[in-house]
Order: sequence, then C-alpha cells, then structure tokens
Amino acid sequence: MDPEAEPGIEIELHDVQPEQPEAGTDPADREGTKIVAVGSPVARPRVFVHYGCLKQVLGHAYGEVDREVGGVLVGKNFRSRHGLVTELTAAIAARTEKAGLGHITFSHEAWNDIYRQLDELEPQLRIMGWYHSHPGFGIFLSHQDKFIHGSFFAGSQNVALVVDPLSGCVGMFGWRGRRLGSLGGIRILAAEEHQAAAEQLAEKLHYIVSDRQEHVHGLRERLGKTIRRLAQGQQRFEAR
Ligand SMILES: [Zn+2]
Repeated sequence: MDPEAEPGIEIELHDVQPEQPEAGTDPADREGTKIVAVGSPVARPRVFVHYGCLKQVLGHAYGEVDREVGGVLVGKNFRSRHGLVTELTAAIAARTEKAGLGHITFSHEAWNDIYRQLDELEPQLRIMGWYHSHPGFGIFLSHQDKFIHGSFFAGSQNVALVVDPLSGCVGMFGWRGRRLGSLGGIRILAAEEHQAAAEQLAEKLHYIVSDRQEHVHGLRERLGKTIRRLAQGQQRFEAR
C-alpha cells in the first residue's frame, strides 16, 4: 500500500522545540553493518531498528498473545549525510495491566518503572518512541493510540511500532510533517554476525497496515460502548 495514500490524522504538536541533533555516521555508511528491510521504508523520516531491539519487542508481543502488551523504544537521533536519523537500539517493556481493546495505557507507575530501567542503560540513550501489540487485530493506530502518540511522543522523530503476534504483521508509524502515518516499512540494522538471522526474521514478518482494520476496530469499540450503555440502562430499568 502506498503510505502517502493513507488518510492519517492531524494532531497539534504542542511545545515541540525545533530539534538540532548532532552529526553522526549514517547506518548505511557503517562498516560491518547490514540493513535488512521489511516492506518499503520511506526515505524520510529515516528510521532504523537494531536487530536486538526488534527481537526484544517481538519476544514481548509473542510471549503474551492473549492481551496487548507494550513499552518504549530507546535510542538516539542525529543528523547524517542522508538527513535526520532515528536509531532504535533497545526496548523497555512497560507494565500494562490496564490494557484495553487495541490499546495500552501508560500509567504513572509504568512511566516510573520505564525511567528506572532507562537509567541503567547508556546515558546518551533517550526514549524515541513506543511499541505495542495488537493480537489478532491487525496493524493500525486506534484513536486511543493516536492520542497516546500525540500526547507523549509528539517529537518530530518519535515513532510507534505495532506488532500483531497472531498474524506476523508489523507496522511502523511516525510524523510525516504534521501527519501521523505509516512509514512504509522497517529497516532492521544488523551487525555482520546477525545478518542471516535478521534476513530470516524479515522473511517471517509482513508489513501490512490496514485502514480497513482501523475502521472495523472503531466499529467494535463503538458497539462495545453501546452494549455497555444498554446494559446500564437495563440495570437502571430493573432497579426501578
Ligand atoms: Zn493499538
């Protein structure tokens, strides 16, 4: 699917300072590093996921296929000769006991826990995005997901990774200007010794982002609310 053709959603970016990242070597120019693509990643924003980081995310999502799980993506951003780069090096799992249908909730305790774990990583690493699973729902950003991204990940280089462990589908989302949309694919960054494993992993994953599933999910959410309202109405009726 052409990511340009997606409707996306307009979210006002609040208080985002213009970012002036330092210069760095583009991952494509590094010796002994291989780039393996899932889907067709857009040229900008230029996002890379370390093989180890993706393995962490998939391990979390595939480990609990009966509920949505998630966490944050940690890494750095810098300016290379190819433009701004977002490089994701590790994932931190969040405690998401309050997950709902198609979205997760980052509670105050979850954030505290995430920051505790971040403190133990290299000091230059920052939270660059988040990930969560949609077991059996397919890949899209729900209304609540877009709210989370616009609230906590409004930086121009912040990204969201969504994984459906039941279908093997994945999707990467980010800001394209003021629009939040699919980034067309995932660039896996693998050291020489992980290249074969990264290629095998990429073959198993499908980059499929579906607006239709977003629509069906929206209907399911609305239907759920209607049923709850009807049930409350019936309780009130019976109580009379
Ligand atoms: Zn979601």
